Amino acid sequence: MKIGIMGGTFDPIHIGHLLLGMFAYEDFGLDEIWFLPNGNPPHKQTKEGEEALGHRIEMVRRAISDVPYFRLCLHEAKEKEHSYTYKTMRELCALYPEHRFYFILGADSLFAIEEWKYFREIFPTCTILAAMRDDKDVGDMMRQIAYLEETYGAKISLLRAPLLEISSTTLRERAAQGKSVAYMVPQAVDEYMQEHALYRKGE
Ligand code: ATP
Ligand code: MG
Repeated sequence: MKIGIMGGTFDPIHIGHLLLGMFAYEDFGLDEIWFLPNGNPPHKQTKEGEEALGHRIEMVRRAISDVPYFRLCLHEAKEKEHSYTYKTMRELCALYPEHRFYFILGADSLFAIEEWKYFREIFPTCTILAAMRDDKDVGDMMRQIAYLEETYGAKISLLRAPLLEISSTTLRERAAQGKSVAYMVPQAVDEYMQEHALYRKGE
């Protein structure tokens, strides 16, 4: 099968993530999209415990529950140590030699990928599907794709999805200010955040 991998911190998951998954599924004829919450992302300063990881996982579970081709993959979330994409992708390829993997990411990740640990090791394991984000336009994306393909032999395609100025950071800030996150996260995620008073000031 052709499997899209949507990795992220999902702190919280929002409609930007879900749209990337849906557009990748439809436009690249994928069979499933696996949402892969990071355990302990090395590039983020999260000092979270098991509880926060549990919340992130539960929000992903609720966000994807009604889409049959969306799956939750806990491969990285189980690790106590940092999760690294090269290692995860290598392990997924070994575990599932019958599948072909498509790693989905946004422009910020595509432009930062050379800072990821052993990033060259990622390229042979998958095709990358890269979506625009923030101020990166099609020209910027095509230049970066060509550069990574020529320099490292990466296989990268532009993933066209609605350009949304939504990030988990702004959603955490809104929640901390007591503002609504409705329409930017699925209703079930909004309800979960309220139930557990996530991201409120002083918590
Ligand atoms: P944070 O603000 O905490 O970094 P985030 O919104 O960037 O959160 P992540 O979990 O860091 O979400 O992102 C996972 C992946 O989804 C990354 O590859 C990121 O580029 C991509 N992504 C997230 N939001 C968007 C968006 N609105 N448009 C395009 N790509 C996105
Ligand atoms: Mg991010």
